[in-house]
Amino acid sequence: MEYEAVIGLEVHAQLLTDSKIFCGCSTKFGGEPNTQTCPVCLGMPGVLPVLNRKVVEYALRTAVALNCAIAEKSVFARKNYFYPDLPKGYQISMFERPLAEHGWIELELAGGKKRIGITRIHMEEDAGKLVHSGEFARADYSYVDLNRTGVPLMEIVSEPDLRAPEEAAEYMRQLRSILVYLGVCDGNMQEGSLRCDANVSVMPKGSTKFGTRAELKNMNSFRNVQRALEYEIVRQKKVIESGGEVIQETRLWDDEMGKTGGMRGKEDAHDYRYLPDPDLIPLKVDEDWIGQIRQSLPELPGRKKGRFVLQYNIPEYDAGVLTQDQGLAEYFEAVIKAGAASKWASNWMMGELMRELNEQNKSAGDCPVKPEELAGLYRLIEKGAISSKIAKNVFLEMFRNGKSAEQVVREQGLTQVSDDSVIRKMIEEAIAENPKQLAEYLSGKDKMSGFFVGQVMKKSQGKANPQMVNQILAEALKKLKEGK
Ligand code: ADP
Ligand code: ZN
Ligand code: MG
Repeated sequence: MEYEAVIGLEVHAQLLTDSKIFCGCSTKFGGEPNTQTCPVCLGMPGVLPVLNRKVVEYALRTAVALNCAIAEKSVFARKNYFYPDLPKGYQISMFERPLAEHGWIELELAGGKKRIGITRIHMEEDAGKLVHSGEFARADYSYVDLNRTGVPLMEIVSEPDLRAPEEAAEYMRQLRSILVYLGVCDGNMQEGSLRCDANVSVMPKGSTKFGTRAELKNMNSFRNVQRALEYEIVRQKKVIESGGEVIQETRLWDDEMGKTGGMRGKEDAHDYRYLPDPDLIPLKVDEDWIGQIRQSLPELPGRKKGRFVLQYNIPEYDAGVLTQDQGLAEYFEAVIKAGAASKWASNWMMGELMRELNEQNKSAGDCPVKPEELAGLYRLIEKGAISSKIAKNVFLEMFRNGKSAEQVVREQGLTQVSDDSVIRKMIEEAIAENPKQLAEYLSGKDKMSGFFVGQVMKKSQGKANPQMVNQILAEALKKLKEGK
């Protein structure tokens, strides 16, 4: 029997506001434990939450960008449960009346474009953090750091429209890219500012009735979202094929083991006893505000990609890579503006530049080689002053020491040798020094000409103009053959 997977994702994004969602405490990461708290986020009796306008603005930006219908009126609710990292005994979230619904994201998949529905977007507060290790660790103690309590989160729930692990990973990539473009989330999955729970079930191929789903947690990269889903789909198929039944449960992904394990089942599923928070009045967003937000949205990655293909005449693939990150896209446009050819710029950026950036864990915005300087490197290649091969070394030197291309070429004497007589002399030497190889060539082994090209390049320390070497060498060898 052939099976088909059904996947829906619940994504939590930490919003990039300076202060928390219901009080003025800082959201800065990494402070001394419990130094960024106040009676409101500690849940002291009698305090009142005040909604942070910036949180609403960021959630609205996202809702508009994801094509959602925004509720005229939405309501904060209390989600009740007990846990030591939750001082109030409830989390303020949205339940029956979320901020936005019925949106979609368009993915570009191998088989074409596909729209994935967004069920809802709502705002909520984060909980604190339990600490079991570190400076004060003791086997019989746990500590709690409440700096994170009240940090604003946005939850984005997708429809069960995804059909394969790669689709889920692509959805995450696209969503992350949009959130970062919008400036509402830093998109860092490793640090947990973007988290994903993946719901997955399997059903016979072609069926319309979904199977029972498991919810997967604890994946901190796109790759792990995909791996966890791949593992889980195989597991569920095996359960069904051996006559068993998939149970609805939450399962944790174990990165090292490469598998998911049961965490809690439906039996101990929570009854959260949701109720509207009486301390917070219903949220009404007026049309003007939504209009302003719509006006202020940046060009989003999907649209930018399409424009890059048309305007710069580069392949879709290149445009996709370059627009995944806004800083990279801006860098690319600046290189073109400074005079480089678009296809050269995209190749160089996707190869040399991104490799160095990744290696040094830098983003395009803090690239030590400025766009104008990269265009300078292009000009040197273009006018034949250096070969592409040498340009790679020049680029490394530019990247590491912040020098301009001209400066590196001057200091290291790398200028390409395009002097006819100099090249001719090196070719004559190479031929004279290698009689055995010459004899082989003359006896019909045409491939030996490549050997001589190599010799000449070596003699010139890679600086000889390769086109000229090829041409002059071909002529010289031909003469020798004819004169034989
Ligand atoms: P909960 O809050 O209990 O996790 P939700 O209704 O919010 O439940 O659904 C969570 C996610 O599960 C959504 O992204 C939805 O698309 C997905 N989902 C629902 N049913 C299925 C199913 N049968 N298989 C896979 N995913 C599903
Ligand atoms: Zn506070
Ligand atoms: Mg869930």
